[in-house]
Amino acid sequence: MSLLLGCIADDFTGATDLAGMLVRAGMRTVQMIGVPQEPLPRDVDAVVIALKSRTTPPQEAVDESLAALEWLRNAGCRQFYFKYCSTFDSTDRGNIGPVTDALMTALGTDFTIACPAFPENKRTIFKGYLFVGDELLSESGMRNHPLTPMTDANLVRVLQRQTARKVGLIGHEVVARGAEAIAAHIEALKRDGIQIAIVDAVSNDDLMRIGAALAGMPLVTAGSGIALGLPQNFRKAGLLDEGAVADTLEVPQGLRAVISGSCSVATNAQVAHFIASGRPAFAIDPLRLANGEDLVSMALDWAAPLLADGPPLVYATAAPEAVKAVQARLGVERAGLLVEEALAGIAKGLVERGVRQMLVAGGETSGAVVQALGVHGLHIGPQIDPGVPWTTTLGATPLALALKSGNFGSVDFFTKAWSVLR
Ligand code: ADP
Repeated sequence: MSLLLGCIADDFTGATDLAGMLVRAGMRTVQMIGVPQEPLPRDVDAVVIALKSRTTPPQEAVDESLAALEWLRNAGCRQFYFKYCSTFDSTDRGNIGPVTDALMTALGTDFTIACPAFPENKRTIFKGYLFVGDELLSESGMRNHPLTPMTDANLVRVLQRQTARKVGLIGHEVVARGAEAIAAHIEALKRDGIQIAIVDAVSNDDLMRIGAALAGMPLVTAGSGIALGLPQNFRKAGLLDEGAVADTLEVPQGLRAVISGSCSVATNAQVAHFIASGRPAFAIDPLRLANGEDLVSMALDWAAPLLADGPPLVYATAAPEAVKAVQARLGVERAGLLVEEALAGIAKGLVERGVRQMLVAGGETSGAVVQALGVHGLHIGPQIDPGVPWTTTLGATPLALALKSGNFGSVDFFTKAWSVLR
């Protein structure tokens, strides 16, 4: 059977999150790192192409997304999905608006939705306002994000600043009435000249209702949550087996390690929890990197004798004040790159020292790690926490990787994740 759903994700962990969701919903899914240069494995229902386009200049993000779309169209996908973060991570320059615009134009479609909601992970949208847990997006930790600080919770407003197309809203009062009401409302919005609609969603039931209304929509733009409601459409159309098991993995055996470059609230808590439980941890200080100190070698020498006794942690994770201080000294971009490069070098060194199972925290960080390891694609396996599945790398010497988006995972994520592999 041919590919059904072709997805373009704006960062690596976001791609894994989406792929995990599709696997959960019964679609056999692979994640490719960048536009694939090789044929896909057989027996795949959905493919997610992971780009690193969340914070690149908008034109670069557009060009890469269009190249990915072209590949997915040639592979025969029937529906396309642009995936961004469940906290709508972007700046006023983009890249959610510009990429959505370009994909719509390329597909010749005049309507799509925008819905980062992921209720299981406490990302809900009501009246167009995005909530993170009980807080508005703009009052959550996301207001301090190193690269994409989110200071406005009204997604209609946020997206409208990024696109010339008219942005509207499908409110919860419509969503609650079901797929037909949603479809009717979409027609009404179109008549008003609206081309992109933010969609309210506060529960998985909402996601299923929205999903049903998206059958046949050429392009969907969303976080990973919306993916829960799409496979039902393919099943209904007889294109996907009922009850197919999609999340089996062959687990590579070897040493374990954790790498963390995310500075999110959740990751800070996970690092603190790991250290408080008496496990070994090595801190990477960006200022020392900027001074030219070889922290990569130091971290590897430190980790080598510890690996046999369970996973050591190497982290740059720091509290917002510390991150701000470093950024003031080095600049946001330079600080980010220095840390990403160092952590990627350490990950590579750890694999050379026999690590075969690795947790990586941080979207950009995961991107850098996967690039350094030369990984081209991932088979998606069972979920550790919502949004974070275990994966195995495609290719000759497989590696088990869990790539965790900053804010995801329970506080004991770094210690509990391993039990899912068994
Ligand atoms: P998240 O998924 O939480 O957004 P990312 O890895 O995508 O995490 O982004 C975090 C960014 O912050 C990366 O560019 C990383 O290199 C950078 N960073 C990590 N630690 C520090 C630090 N201590 N000071 C400044 N920047 C840091």
